[in-house]
Amino acid sequence: MQQRREVFPNVIEMNQQARRRLGCCVYLVHDADEWLLMDIGYEDTLDDIIKLIREMDFPLANCKYLIATHADVDHVQALKRAKEIMPQALVVGHRAAAKLLATGERIMTYAEIAAQGISIPMPRVEFDKTIDEGDVLEVGSLKLDVWHTPGHAPAQLSFRMRDLLFSGDNIYRDGCVGNIDAHHGSDLPSFIKSLTRIRDSDVEWLLPSHGPIFRKDKQQLQETIDRLDQYQHMADFGTCAVDWPLLDEWDDELARGEPSPA
Ligand SMILES: [Zn+2]
Repeated sequence: MQQRREVFPNVIEMNQQARRRLGCCVYLVHDADEWLLMDIGYEDTLDDIIKLIREMDFPLANCKYLIATHADVDHVQALKRAKEIMPQALVVGHRAAAKLLATGERIMTYAEIAAQGISIPMPRVEFDKTIDEGDVLEVGSLKLDVWHTPGHAPAQLSFRMRDLLFSGDNIYRDGCVGNIDAHHGSDLPSFIKSLTRIRDSDVEWLLPSHGPIFRKDKQQLQETIDRLDQYQHMADFGTCAVDWPLLDEWDDELARGEPSPA
């Protein structure tokens, strides 16, 4: 038996429970006899996570949901095996993630980054149910409101419970955001909308998918939004940028016949 180290009432985070870094944040939310898992991480760490759950005395048969916050391999590689271990648990996530995981898609999930020699298994898994903005997941008497917060990925979901937001890859404690990458389906205007929604919400705490939990800070969110707004107009982010003012300037200079260099 291992003492449950709740980060908030009814919430356990498996890296914190283990007191070492296993991978992405894996949240266990429980009430009464029911519990759910939000993301599950890589297959390599699944046995450790299952062992911790057993040692905390959560019956595996009482796991109600296995949630995919989105389809990135570091969040969901072990989902298929977890479902085999807990067949009664409903695998849920956004339909965009369901599509990728049903086919074992490899590019948008980051299982395959050929240029960096990354190529790892991405086991196919069928979702039992897709969830989207406005849905509510219940575990015991707790209610988790589903927020669709695209930007990092089209499928990115967040979950609000009381004054907590399980915020996925939207923002981390240092103000960094989830990877912005055209091949991943990232979208800067959507990302800014999602961050603005989080900024304007009355949630107090952000429980991200990577790194420590932190207090929501409007100013930090604003700085991050401003940074992403700059990215929208910078070539640095390739086709994720919405425009590139330099080329407009150049059009004018060319039309005026200005030599370059001036
Ligand atoms: Zn992530």
